[in-house]
Amino acid sequence: MKRKIIGYHQDRKQDWVADLDCFHGQHVRHEPPFFNRPWSATAEGRAGKLGETLNCVRCDALAFPEGLVEYKRTPEFTQDTIPKGLLKHHTTKMGTWGRIHVLEGKLLYSPEGQESITVLPTKTASIPPEMLHSVAADDAVRFYVAFYTLQT
Ligand SMILES: [Zn+2]
Repeated sequence: MKRKIIGYHQDRKQDWVADLDCFHGQHVRHEPPFFNRPWSATAEGRAGKLGETLNCVRCDALAFPEGLVEYKRTPEFTQDTIPKGLLKHHTTKMGTWGRIHVLEGKLLYSPEGQESITVLPTKTASIPPEMLHSVAADDAVRFYVAFYTLQT
């Protein structure tokens, strides 16, 4: 999934890492001939790439970023009270990660372009910001969704 570069930091080895608007980081090494990114070696070069996009494979893997805090959660829903909007394709807003918590039963979670996931009480499922998805209950379920962002 394409994500915007919103800043940079250096890792422990002093390699440059782009901060993406999904809160994942991605190395932007200049190591020819494997990685040809001369722009990453200078402050001007890095500044020039702010706002451009990189493909974030960690979002595609639904990997929940570190350092986020919960700021809101939905009420508990059951198979009978799931809001219609959740059954259709929808997204969280930019900068908001969701996490599906199933308390009882199971919920089918379908991120667009990916295989559907059966969410069980033993494991939460992550919803990356702005990724189209829907949920479905074929069976009895009780669940809620919590929303996370960076602590400010
Ligand atoms: Zn990402």
